[in-house]
Amino acid sequence: RRSAPEELLAGLNDSQRAAVVHAGAPLLVVAGAGSGKTRVLTRRIAWLIDERRVHPGSILAITFTNKAAAEMKERVEDLVGRRARIMWVSTFHSACVRILRKEITALDVDETTYKSNFSIYDAADSKRLMSLVLKDLELDPKRYQPGAVLHWISNHKNELRDPEDAAKEASNSFEEAYASAYTRYQRRLREANALDFDDLIMMTVRLFQTLPDVRENYRRRFRHVLVDEYQDTNHAQYALIHQLCGHDLERGDTPGNEPSELMVVGDADQSIYAFRGANIRNILDFEKDFPDATSILLEQNYRSTQTILTAANSVIKNNAGRLEKRLWSDAGDGERIVGYVGDDEHDEARFVSEEIDKLVDTGRVKAADVAVFYRTNAQSRVFEEVFIRTGQPYKVVGGVRFYERREVRDALAYLRVLVNTADEISLRRVLNTPKRGIGDRAQACVQALAERDRMTFWEALVRADEAPGLATRSGKNIAGFVALIQELQSMVAADERPDVILESVLERSGYLSELEASDDPQDATRVENLAELVAVAREFSDDPQPGPSADPADVEAGIVAVGLGDFLERVALVADSDQIPDAPDGEDAGVVTLMTLHTAKGLEFPVVFLTGLEDGVFPHQRSLGDQPELEEERRLAYVGVTRARERLYISRAMVRSAWGAPSHNPASRFIDELPVDLVDWRRTAQAQTRWGRPDLAASSPARMGAPTAAGRRNFSAAAARADVAAKAKPARQIPSLSPGDRVLHDSFGMGTVVALEGAGDKSVASIDFGSDGVKRLLLRYAPVEKL
Ligand code: ATP
Ligand code: MG
Repeated sequence: RRSAPEELLAGLNDSQRAAVVHAGAPLLVVAGAGSGKTRVLTRRIAWLIDERRVHPGSILAITFTNKAAAEMKERVEDLVGRRARIMWVSTFHSACVRILRKEITALDVDETTYKSNFSIYDAADSKRLMSLVLKDLELDPKRYQPGAVLHWISNHKNELRDPEDAAKEASNSFEEAYASAYTRYQRRLREANALDFDDLIMMTVRLFQTLPDVRENYRRRFRHVLVDEYQDTNHAQYALIHQLCGHDLERGDTPGNEPSELMVVGDADQSIYAFRGANIRNILDFEKDFPDATSILLEQNYRSTQTILTAANSVIKNNAGRLEKRLWSDAGDGERIVGYVGDDEHDEARFVSEEIDKLVDTGRVKAADVAVFYRTNAQSRVFEEVFIRTGQPYKVVGGVRFYERREVRDALAYLRVLVNTADEISLRRVLNTPKRGIGDRAQACVQALAERDRMTFWEALVRADEAPGLATRSGKNIAGFVALIQELQSMVAADERPDVILESVLERSGYLSELEASDDPQDATRVENLAELVAVAREFSDDPQPGPSADPADVEAGIVAVGLGDFLERVALVADSDQIPDAPDGEDAGVVTLMTLHTAKGLEFPVVFLTGLEDGVFPHQRSLGDQPELEEERRLAYVGVTRARERLYISRAMVRSAWGAPSHNPASRFIDELPVDLVDWRRTAQAQTRWGRPDLAASSPARMGAPTAAGRRNFSAAAARADVAAKAKPARQIPSLSPGDRVLHDSFGMGTVVALEGAGDKSVASIDFGSDGVKRLLLRYAPVEKL
């Protein structure tokens, strides 16, 4: 079907139309939040297909999440019909996987090549591999933490610097050690036929750099490249775009060889991924990089009320060196912003919950219209507690990641081995899981054989009978394992459905029966999670869709991705914000959404609660003494405020418990930046101080019982909470940990033990949770498990 041109341009203002119909020179659309950038990009794709008769296969559109990609594709399909299915609408990572699966075998990587069935390592796999690397290099794990080394490497990769470049730049012995770890890490990745996330981009750039023919193929193919959220691209992604659009210096513009048309849309004020190497300069310098570029500015916001916009503008204007934008809305002033200061985080959550009830009771708001935002994943917990108590259905986007749970990782590791036996990290993970008598000593013997005869760990396992010093019993056990894997591999070779293979893995490996036999309640949860994973695989098999790296020609031919490799790829590419699939409309109407500010990017909700507005929470502690980081936090605040369409709530807590010790955080500076007259404070700090000093009361149990009305109130509330907490948390067994161990925390996700102190009930572990920082946790209470 085709839409009439008027239909494609309907509901767009003049500037938006200009962007949709623009042809030729690179186009930059810069505009504030909610001004229709994503809408314009989507319509432009439809316009290209319908009006300019561009073949959908020659369009590449890049979005920030897989979810955004799916939505965009759906929109375009609504406009131009099924033809749109063969377009590439994907994240940078998915697009690169597609390209690499096809082309990587041609790329020389240190005198060997990757195979096209390479594994994709996520952060946790990379950390495991890095631990091995650090051991190889005999680097002190206390001084050289895998997370820190990986972060350093990631920065280099985002800047397209290989180990050699990194070594050249190393300016002290510390960095020299890091650089040698980088070299070795890349080597081990290559031996495992695995790429980490940053490699996906870097290798594709390298592919295009070293193989001009391949690059030319893709250039000829993608005549149109469109990028949403351009402000969050890092240097490597930027280089990739340049490669694809033929705007590098080597290339002359000979006839028939014109550069592809490029459109990028973004908002420098919403750049919130500097910690992943995002470079705000990419957008600021666009006109310098593309001297013939056309810029279009969008100034009308269609999302929010004027009150919300004014609030957003008055916060962001405190950042230095930005282009002043005049964003306006004709939606009217709307409701005033509502502010609330809670006694503590529980009181704050209670307020949010009650307020949602009231809104829903009016009949004008559905629970699904409401989003609650916070700065760090850990903050979701209190909201969850309150929502469970009040019976308010909710979903947490992000948070404890399903795919990071130990049992889920174990199951996926089995599947990965079936597809790629060179994947040593996965292989070692499952080799003795469940226990099958293949201990460290046996593994060391196999390892020695692998090194001696220069083969992969798997090949050495297959020939374990030749391993010097291997005990007969271990040899038998290894043979059993090899037989198991080979048997399962025959299912893969026979194109068995992924869910069926997964079930066989869980049964034949003995993994499931071991869990089922256990009387640890955690193991029961594990069984449930595995059932969920099987359900995910079943859904994947039942609803065949083009895989993330399926070839468009295959898609056109109706060939769908249903193999085990496709399933693993789908799982590997699931980004944070894609954790929880949306239920179909209607089913979801009663569910409130909880998410971090980072995941909220690009989304909109009629009602938004922006919580935890305290200096030290948001802006984050780390940023307080650091101007660039503080400005990034402010952009995050701008993103948060501008998600709201009709109503915005802001809240903070006087006292927030942080790892057993309550802390009294001052109001966020972002609150002070809001115009006073826009906020209707329902309850203020002044109101609270009349009741005594909640900060002292909460931090000292002795004072909580002080015989004032307020004191008693606080005390009983605290006691009730302690009661709830005690019921919710049965006495835990204290996990025995040592530095370097990987753990999973219910709220913070994966972490690495950095240090331990105290003993027995008093054991305290310092655990590095990556972007959430290092936390000191009392192990008796902390919901951590050793991985
Ligand atoms: P962000 O910066 O948050 O990503 P954006 O600039 O991408 O925002 P969109 O999400 O495309 O903005 O649009 C914001 C809202 O305004 C959407 O609900 C969209 O449908 C609506 N919208 C955009 N342009 C118009 C228009 N011309 N008329 C009516 N509604 C519009
Ligand atoms: Mg957008």
